[in-house]
Amino acid sequence: MHPQYDMLLFAKYILTQNSSREVLEDACLAISQGKVAALGPAASFEQCTAGNTVHLEHTLLMPGLVNGHTHAAMTFLRGMADDLPLMDWLTNHIFPVEKHLTEEIVEIGTLLGCAEMLATGTTACQDMYLFTQAASRAMGAAGIKARVGEGIFSFPSPAYATEEEAFALLQEQVKYWQGHERVRLVVAPHSVYTTTAPLLERCMAFAHQHNLPLHIHLAETATETEQSQSLHGLRPVAYAERLGLLMPGTSIAHGVELLPEEIALLAQRGVCVVHNPKSNMKLASGVAPVPALLAAGVPVALGTDGAASNNALNMFAEMNECALLHKVVGQNPTLVPAQAVLDMATLGGATALAWEGLGCLQPGAPADVIALDMRRPNMQPCFTPVSQVVYAASAHEVCLTVVDGRIVYQDGRYTTIDYPLLLQEMEGLVRWVRENRALR
Ligand SMILES: [Zn+2]
Repeated sequence: MHPQYDMLLFAKYILTQNSSREVLEDACLAISQGKVAALGPAASFEQCTAGNTVHLEHTLLMPGLVNGHTHAAMTFLRGMADDLPLMDWLTNHIFPVEKHLTEEIVEIGTLLGCAEMLATGTTACQDMYLFTQAASRAMGAAGIKARVGEGIFSFPSPAYATEEEAFALLQEQVKYWQGHERVRLVVAPHSVYTTTAPLLERCMAFAHQHNLPLHIHLAETATETEQSQSLHGLRPVAYAERLGLLMPGTSIAHGVELLPEEIALLAQRGVCVVHNPKSNMKLASGVAPVPALLAAGVPVALGTDGAASNNALNMFAEMNECALLHKVVGQNPTLVPAQAVLDMATLGGATALAWEGLGCLQPGAPADVIALDMRRPNMQPCFTPVSQVVYAASAHEVCLTVVDGRIVYQDGRYTTIDYPLLLQEMEGLVRWVRENRALR
């Protein structure tokens, strides 16, 4: 008697990302009830039956990528203001448009972000933005996994006028999303330069009270460091430590401005750093000391940041740039090898999202899996699958995306998103941005 599964995926390779980083060849992945049920040589599954058997013998299966830091809705600002320094870009271009933001814009922008992520092999993300009730709705509808955090500022946001309103909103969101299969919350104070100490302490208390992780932009630029030193007499990491923000379950976006003793402290506190190489390069924020973070045992994840500062939500591009950046900066081609980069984009992401089981394919793990078409010329010949994924793939090889055992994207088509309708909405979106940019 052969077991019956919900889905069988036959593939040329399975890149498992399990503890021994096994790569299977001529293999099969069996899915039941949204989880990986079994995997192994294709021959041992030939007698098995399934509700859906997919023959993908020309593909490589791997865990869906985890985008550890993004602002998915910001696709609506993609390409609106480029080639500017962070503070000028934020205060003179991004914030003035965001001031007029509506739930509808956030929902459309997030849906476009989800469409891009699912088509480029990302199955889970950590998202921080405004009107996140709308963002969460879009994430839930798109079928992606998401940790979503309302950006908390010490000044009014379009989503709330006062601090009291902000926490009332968080409270509502906690109640609304409790127990959702794919949408979870994170407490997300925007940064140390857009909040006050009492507000950060209140965020931390809220996180403790509701057993939620904390996510914050930290140590991103030299300007932030200077501001923190002049306002608080402390560098950003020391200031965050003084306020009790650094603990397991906390993930910080960027971590560019880090001294050796700060790296040691992050390792000691079990804080995860989400590295955003493309955003850091585009805004010339600097280079996060990733080799030193890895050597110190700090969990490192990868993120795209928002489409306004990247300008893509493509984790394959992020992996590629990450691997190259640290080699040229360290003038050492052995730094941050392909496997380490893939680990960041999968298992590191699981740590950033504090979401157990993500980032690897093994029995019992969520069936979040993607398939890459290995027939593409840039994927041939294949000696080392991990190398191919990090150095040769562009993400356009992704031909199947599965989340919790459900096909959400296959061969250019979405099962959860009405993409032609979404495309139609882009014209109105461009008009809205132009009008509101003119308003100031
Ligand atoms: Zn960001």
